[in-house]
Amino acid sequence: MKQTYGTTPDGAVDLYTLTNATGMRAQLTNYGAIVTSLLVPDREGRLGDVVLGFDRLDGYLGKHPYFGAICGRYVNRIARGRFALNGVEYSLARNDGDNHLHGGIRGFDKRVWKATEVAKPGQQAVRLAYSSAAAEEGYPGALEVIVTYALTDRNELSIDYVATTEADTVLNLSHHGYFNLADGGAGDILKHEVMIEAARFLPVQADLIPTGELRSVQGTPMDFTRPAAIGARIDSDDRQLVCGTGYDHTFVLNGRSGQLRLGARVYEPSSGRVMEVLTTEPGLQFYTGNFLDGTITGKRGAVYRQRHGLCLECQHFPDSPNQPQFPTTLLKPGQTYAQTTVYRFSVA
Ligand code: BGC
Repeated sequence: MKQTYGTTPDGAVDLYTLTNATGMRAQLTNYGAIVTSLLVPDREGRLGDVVLGFDRLDGYLGKHPYFGAICGRYVNRIARGRFALNGVEYSLARNDGDNHLHGGIRGFDKRVWKATEVAKPGQQAVRLAYSSAAAEEGYPGALEVIVTYALTDRNELSIDYVATTEADTVLNLSHHGYFNLADGGAGDILKHEVMIEAARFLPVQADLIPTGELRSVQGTPMDFTRPAAIGARIDSDDRQLVCGTGYDHTFVLNGRSGQLRLGARVYEPSSGRVMEVLTTEPGLQFYTGNFLDGTITGKRGAVYRQRHGLCLECQHFPDSPNQPQFPTTLLKPGQTYAQTTVYRFSVA
């Protein structure tokens, strides 16, 4: 179902509502490819919104930390906003201290996408297309991106990405939803229990650029191979947690990248809600909303304070264009970028 959502400087945008056979509901807009709400049953069957965001389009047009959006062309950081490709040096916006973050000043999260509703048995979906001109935000190559959000009768929000380019470029896309399975962001996420299918993570420097090392999680607060409450170790004096002011790290997912496999599972004890994240991507950015600081009031008047939301962003590793030992984020003409990520909900 489609309804008018409002007007942006680039024209009118719509709000799409997807529902499934069990009563789950997702709403999304073609502004920024943003998922604005996600109603998920708790263990009593009561629906609750589990994502942070705003009641109206206005909120999304203002400054906010990428709530629910698709980030691109390069989600996460590129050191000093610079990389070289085919002997040419490219310079990008430094919009996070000295580094480039989430595609720059006007990334894909601030663009109007072209939407088409697509119905299939067992799911409702919206296909969002965006054409990014060559040199947009400093990146080479005209790029065509299609992101399809589908809500399935198996209580999954699935996100399919495909992209092609007209010239060699770099690409790293991700959905940037902030989840709070207890109350949608009115309170903190510290009691959520998290399991991450990763034996290794990427340690970072103080500015959150990876050092290049793939380090074992064993014996560190980064070990989520068995479920652990987020709050259990987050304030320890571990150097990595100090750098991130909490968790803000890429986990190197076990298994083969390119294959859809379980990346993480989150359980919230008060509601009984469970969220599993499946992905084809090599990495998972686990971010515990450390930079939320109470300055944003979101849906239903909730004040988003530090650690009121968590992100599990499926993506390639940060700064890959400058770290040749990381899986490549290079995309060439004739190749197709493809990613599938699924957020699957249940109760326990
Ligand atoms: C990053 C955080 C950043 C947040 C909002 C996350 O993907 O890892 O460091 O603060 O996005 O921009």
